[in-house]
Formats: sequence, C-alpha cells, structure tokens
Amino acid sequence: MTEKDFSKYGISTRGVRAGQRRTQEGEQSEPIFTTSSFVFESAEQAAARFSGEEPGNIYSRFTNPTVNTFERRLAALEGGARCVATASGMAAITAACSALLKSGDHILSSNGIFGSTTLLFNKYLSRFGIDHSSIPLSDLDRWESSIKASTRMLFIETPSNPLAEVVDIKALAEIAKRKGCLLVVDNTVCTAALQRPLALGADLVVVSATKYLDGQGRCVGGAVIGSGELIEEVYGFLRTAGPSMSPFNAWVFMKGLETLRVRMQAHSASALTLAKWIETHPAVQQVFYTGLASHPQHQLAAQQQEGFSGLLAFELKGGRDDAWRFINSTELVSITANLGDAKTTITHPATTTHGRLTDEERDAAGIHQGLVRVAVGLEDVEDLKADLQRGFDAQG
Ligand SMILES: *Cc1c(COP(=O)(O)O)cnc(C)c1O
Repeated sequence: MTEKDFSKYGISTRGVRAGQRRTQEGEQSEPIFTTSSFVFESAEQAAARFSGEEPGNIYSRFTNPTVNTFERRLAALEGGARCVATASGMAAITAACSALLKSGDHILSSNGIFGSTTLLFNKYLSRFGIDHSSIPLSDLDRWESSIKASTRMLFIETPSNPLAEVVDIKALAEIAKRKGCLLVVDNTVCTAALQRPLALGADLVVVSATKYLDGQGRCVGGAVIGSGELIEEVYGFLRTAGPSMSPFNAWVFMKGLETLRVRMQAHSASALTLAKWIETHPAVQQVFYTGLASHPQHQLAAQQQEGFSGLLAFELKGGRDDAWRFINSTELVSITANLGDAKTTITHPATTTHGRLTDEERDAAGIHQGLVRVAVGLEDVEDLKADLQRGFDAQG
C-alpha cells in the first residue's frame, strides 16, 4: 500500500493523520489488532514471509499493524525515515545501545540524564565492556575535548530534568559528525511537538511514550526514531531480544499523538504563567524554566524549541523541611515523580529521583534540598496557582 507523503503537512496534521492505513471496513478511527500471530495463504507464502522475500506480518513481536501505525505517525512527527516502538522508554534506550554499540565502545553523556539511563550505562552496559562518562550538557568545548577514540555515542537530554539546562543540538551534531560519533537525543521532555532533533542533525531520537505521548498516565512505552539504516539495526535487536510494544499500548499512544501538539502548547502556556509567578515570590531562590527571560539560555531554547514544555523546578531559600512542607501543603496536585500527565505532579528531587546519589554527587548536579519540581498538567492555571500558594503560605 502506498503511503501518503505527510512531509508537506504541519506538525498538528501529521499528529492527527500520518501513518493511518484504513482496512476494507472503512473505519474512521484506527483499530487495535490484538493478535499475536498472522496466518498465511499457503506454505509458499509462509516461506516467503520468513525469508523476507515478501513483506508482511508474521508475529507481533516483530510487527503488528497497530504498532506500525503508531510508528509511522511518530516517525512523521519527528521527521525521521523510520521509527520502532518499544515496551518502555528504557527499552528504547537499551535497544539503541545494544544494537549500535559493542565491547570497547564509550558513551559520552550529559550530566543529570534520567536515573535509570545512568544506571543502565554504569551498572549493566559496563559489564559488556561499554564505558560511560558524563560532562556538563551545555559546554560545547568540553564535548569536543572529551570525545575519545573509543567514543561511539553522545547521549543527551535537552532541556535537562529538573534544572532545565539546554545545549545547541545543531552545534553538538556537527561535533559528533566530525568525530565520527552518533548523537542520540532523549526527546521525552519536549516531544516532537516542540523540538525535532533529527532536523538539527541528531542521528537518533529516543523517547519515553509513557510521558507526554500518552499524556494521561495510562501506559508504559517508548520509541527510537532515525534513518532507515540505523533503525533497521535497532529493529533487528528488538524483534530478537523482545521488548516490543503491545498493540493496545500502541493504540493509546497513537491516539495520544492526535492531541500532542495542543496538549504541549497548553502545558507550556500554564508552565510559563506559573514560572513567571513563582519567580516573583520572596521565598524562592531561583526558578528553572527555559521559557523565562531570566533563564541564561532562553534565546537558544526559544530558537531550538517551539515551546518550553510543562516541566519546571524552583529552589526555595530554605532546605528539605521547607520543601517537604511546601509539597505537603498542596491539596490538588499529585505527589509523584511522574511527568507528562494531564494531572499536575509535584516532587522533591533530592529525596526521590536523585535520592540514590551521595550528597557530593547531588551537590555537583545542582540538586539542592530546597528544590521542588512541578510537571504542570492541564488543570485551570488559577487552581494550580491557588494550590501552590498553599505551599508558599506554609513557609516560615
Ligand atoms: C521516564 C523517562 C525515561 C524512561 O522511560 P520509561 O517509559 O519509564 O521506561 C527516559 N528518559 C526520560 C527523560 C524520562 O523522563
């Protein structure tokens, strides 16, 4: 079946329509194919499918029509030739690394990447002879000078979570190209609705679909997007090793993509309103949000992103007790470390997401005890303001 070319369409249109292939039933909304395997018309056809002579479905660990629709839609959004869906965001990162790295290779990442990603690199990939070190995200000279002969992959999250540091993706992609490394961008915080790293020269995008792609906290999933050649490698690993996405989850994420753009705009607008308001409060030392004019990399973020996403953090002048009192005084927002949900969440990074670090590691990462992170949801912003005001009212 020939695929409609969606490259001429805008991001909202791609999110709503790209990748759909109607069946003969003529359905308007995409169906869920809950089948583990597929039947063949003959032994000859089965042989042709297995040998790869004839394209088509065999088994849902390899391909599934619902999962494939989600993949085509997300590939169109990210501007990549191809996408493969995975059982989680971590499965996406594991698959990309397992498929493209080998013993003796080195991963150079930014500081402060997702906790499980750090653990994957340092505890597990290290057992297979894959080395990892990390440096400050925004320091391009440092990237240039830290790449070793064995460095095969640069891995970043921009903006970083929770301190909202940003790197110039285009400039880093040029360094990666010159040094013969792959640049992998975890695009979970901005999503393709606000930032498209492949167009800026990145080789691969990985994403946790669990967050904004779903947007309603229902399913766990992930994806890897990039060139046909690289994704073929990742797909080969995935169909063999097995962390594939379930058709039901793919359906939830695919429908999530239809509203992704408007949701990200709404998350961004509310987060900006709150960040500006929080910044004026006397109990606040600093607000970390790329949408603020006071953010040192605001210009770069405004140029590289089409919005600033829903994730913001702020440091209270007090310590842990003040931060905890702030969190405990709220009554509407959810106390949880998740992000990307319609329901606003609040967390204390120093004792949750970054709780496993030593005091020195946490200090070096800039995660102080007074830091509070809010993933702004889709409630009325006035209600969120009133709820956070309860936190401020509880400050001494
Ligand atoms: C949540 C998250 C992941 C991991 O995704 P899962 O779906 O939980 O496996 C990776 N990167 C970032 C930035 C995340 O927020």
